[in-house]
Formats: sequence, structure tokens, C-alpha cells
Amino acid sequence: MGAYATINPATGEALAEFPVISDREVDAILDRAHTAYLSWRETPLAQRTAALARAAQLSTERIDELAKLLTLEMGKPLMQAQGEVMLVASIFKYYAENAEKFLADEVLDAVGGGEAVVRTEPIGVILGVMPWNFPYYQVARFAAPNLALGNTIVLKHARNCPQSALAMEKLLHDAGIPKDAYINAFIDSRQVAEIIADPRVQGVSLTGSEKAGSAVGEVAGRHMKRYVLELGGSDPFIVLEDADVDGAVKEAVMGRVMNAGQACTASKRFIVVDSVYDEFTQKFIGAMTQIPTGDPTDPATMVGPLSSAQAAKDLGELVKDAVDKGAELHSAPQPDGGGAYYAPAVLTGVTSEMRAFSEELFGPVATVFRVPSPQAAVELANSSPFGLGGSIFTKNLDLARELAGDLETGMVWINAVTGSSAELPFGGVKRSGVGRELGKYGMSEFANKKLVRVP
Ligand code: NAP
Repeated sequence: MGAYATINPATGEALAEFPVISDREVDAILDRAHTAYLSWRETPLAQRTAALARAAQLSTERIDELAKLLTLEMGKPLMQAQGEVMLVASIFKYYAENAEKFLADEVLDAVGGGEAVVRTEPIGVILGVMPWNFPYYQVARFAAPNLALGNTIVLKHARNCPQSALAMEKLLHDAGIPKDAYINAFIDSRQVAEIIADPRVQGVSLTGSEKAGSAVGEVAGRHMKRYVLELGGSDPFIVLEDADVDGAVKEAVMGRVMNAGQACTASKRFIVVDSVYDEFTQKFIGAMTQIPTGDPTDPATMVGPLSSAQAAKDLGELVKDAVDKGAELHSAPQPDGGGAYYAPAVLTGVTSEMRAFSEELFGPVATVFRVPSPQAAVELANSSPFGLGGSIFTKNLDLARELAGDLETGMVWINAVTGSSAELPFGGVKRSGVGRELGKYGMSEFANKKLVRVP
């Protein structure tokens, strides 16, 4: 694997390169992060949260420059890039304002009376391994609760967004997080494994693919380190008979094409009951094939390029496999010329022999399935190896709540696509991962819930 590099996916132009650091540098980073932990954990909470509040403020002040970097490095349309920066600001603010509450001692009723208190304490240096699809948001939801708690962080970002990684590091340092309490490290997978094994490190949080997640989880398990894995998804979007079809189509489009479809919680499988299948599918195909696609710096663009030429090629291969095996593709013409573009499309007639049935379509291509009943919809939804989020569209909220209980996912949204907000827990089950981020849950994954008992 080569260096970290900025390659503009809209043009294919290579713009900057950053070498992978040496093992000696990794060792020095771990020393620094560990030493910083010893003082950061003793730093008054008010000082730690003040730095996060300042990080929120700086994110807002730097929104234009931060957003431009996302557009440059991974092709996110500018307006969506600004939206990501605003979400990041809200996460920093949320932990600045709520950390004290989340860190309060929990008093238990112990058998035999006396005093039983659970404290929430930091555990040490935590490694973050992050993907390129939301380069700031994924870092913020991991870093904010851990920095508030008193842990320190070594962060390995994806190879294709090094400048976004450096911008986040600078922002946190400018906000008052000590230089050694958050260290960006351009490292490779071997070094990731060595860091997890190192006694100076207590845990690892990875957001990314199943393959990377299982590699990291395996090493963490071997060395008895805590881990959180936020992995892929193939979220079902269930449309029932009494749904508002036009409203569902609007949400379906947003759910499938935001971030050019490169979101773990993007709606990927549209499961529609027979009675509304034709109407939904016809309107959905109509909307998907008219989406403004192109230059991500143009404010009118809704779908920009995929993150890399390779990503567009991989998606094309999944679609070809489905079409070769009999699926029908409904698509606007694919843009020609340079850039990693892939026009939004809908596949119908997908069957279980096709890769698109069970693999994650990481781009703006939807699969639509016809089912006879709500129960059949849930059954098909649960046939996926993934279990991240899911949506149910119906006017019958009681039925929706009941079906939510049957879905094998970490999150269910009713009459909306899966979203993310600082106060709402985020995470999946099955092949979608282990653990939760955000909300109060995001603050316990790398905490020592220490019992102090006076019988
Ligand atoms: P990826 O290839 O797994 O990369 C994610 C990160 O893991 C990168 O920093 C990557 O480094 C690193 N990595 C890859 N293999 C590794 C290994 N064997 N050991 C240690 N580190 C390794 O994923 P991606 O293609 O960038 O991201 C897309 C995937 O992330 C999708 O499956 C998506 O659904 C998932 N995702 C999940 C969530 C969630 O919250 N559940 C959110 C966003 C994305 P290099 O860049 O150096 O390879």
C-alpha cells in the first residue's frame, strides 16, 4: 500500500502526498499519547469540555475551508460537506454540554446497605481507525466523548483524505486539546495491529468495512483490548400499503443518493408491498434518473463523483453482475469523460444469486423488491448479513412500532430515513458491528465503570 494521497475524484488529479511514518515514529507517538493521558485525565473536566466547546465554535467559523477539503478529497457536494461540518459542530457542543451529566457517579442500592457507587473513569490511549466517507463526522463522534472522558487519541484516517485528517487535528489543537492528547498518524494496517497490541494502548474504534473490522477486532480480541466496530450496512426501506407514496419516494431518493450513496446507513434495499409496488417503483425510478449529477463544487449538484475511480468501477461490477443474471437496470446515461462519476440508478428483478442481493451497494444504486405482506418485508429485510439501520413507511404507527421490534438492526426510523444526531445512539448488530457511538452510550465504550463499595 502506498502513501496517503489527495486525488480529486472529480478530475482524477493527484494533488498531494504524505508518506506513511516509520515504526520509530509510531513508538514516539505512543509515548507522547500515553504521557498526555496521565495529565489529561487529571485535567479538570471543565477545561476538557471548554476545549470541545471551542472546537464546536471553530468548526462553525471554518466551515467553508473545512467543507472545501471534503469536496476536494472525496467528492462530497459542497452543500452536503457544509452539512457535515455543522453536524460535527453539534457533536462537539453536545459533549461539551453533557459530559458532566454522563460522568456523574451512579449510586446503587446494594444488598446489605452501605455505599455502592459506580464511577466512570477513562482508560488510556485509544486508537481510532476511520473511513473517508464522512471524514470529519466519524472522527468527531469517536473523539468528542473520549476526549471529554479523559482518554487520549491516536487517529489513523483513510488514505484518501489526509488533508481532512490534518485539518481536524489542527482544529482540535487550536481549540485547546493538548497536542499529544490527539495525534493524527499516517500509518498502515500492520502498524495498526502493532499499536492495538501495545500495552500503552487500551482500545480501538474502527469505522469502515467488514473486512477491516474483522481484522482489527481479531487483533483487539487477542490482546484483550476494548473495541467498537461501526461497519457496513444494507439498510432496508420498507413501504407498506397505506404509506404516503410521494413522501416515501422523496425520502427514498434522499436515503439512497446523499453522499453519492456512500453511507453505511444509506437506504439500499427498497422493499415494497405488492399493492403499492408499481406506483412507488415508477415514481422512484422517475426521480432517481433525474437527479442533478456532476461537479461537486456546483451548489445545484446533488450527486457528485464517487470517492475514487476504483469505487465507481467496483459499483459498476456489482451492477453488471446483476444485469448479466437477469436484473433490469433503470438509469440515466452514465456521464462520460474523466472523474469517478456514477449516475443514480435503480435495479429491479434482483434475485439471491446476484451479488447485489447480499453485498453492500456503496454508491447511488437502489435495489427494489416486491413482497406480499409486511411480515414478508421484515423477513426479506432480515435476510441480510448486515443489521445497521432500517426504515418503515406507513401511516399505522402501531404496526410500525411492532415491526420495528422484528427488524434485526441497531436503529429503526419510522417514516424517515436513518439519520444521525449527537444525542441519538448509533450502531448496528450482525455484520454491521459491535458497540454504540453518540449519545450517552458513546461515552461508556472506552470507560472504566469502576465500583467503589463501602459495605
Ligand atoms: P475500509 O477500507 O474498511 O477503510 C476504513 C479504514 O480502515 C481506513 O482507515 C483503512 O485504511 C482502514 N483499514 C482497512 N483495512 C484495514 C486493516 N486490515 N487493518 C487496519 N486498518 C484497516 O472502508 P472504506 O472503504 O474506507 O469505508 C467504507 C465502509 O465503511 C463501508 O462498508 C461503510 O458502510 C462503512 N461505514 C460504516 C459506518 C458505520 O458507522 N457503521 C460509517 C461509515 C462507513 P486505508 O485507507 O489505509 O486502507
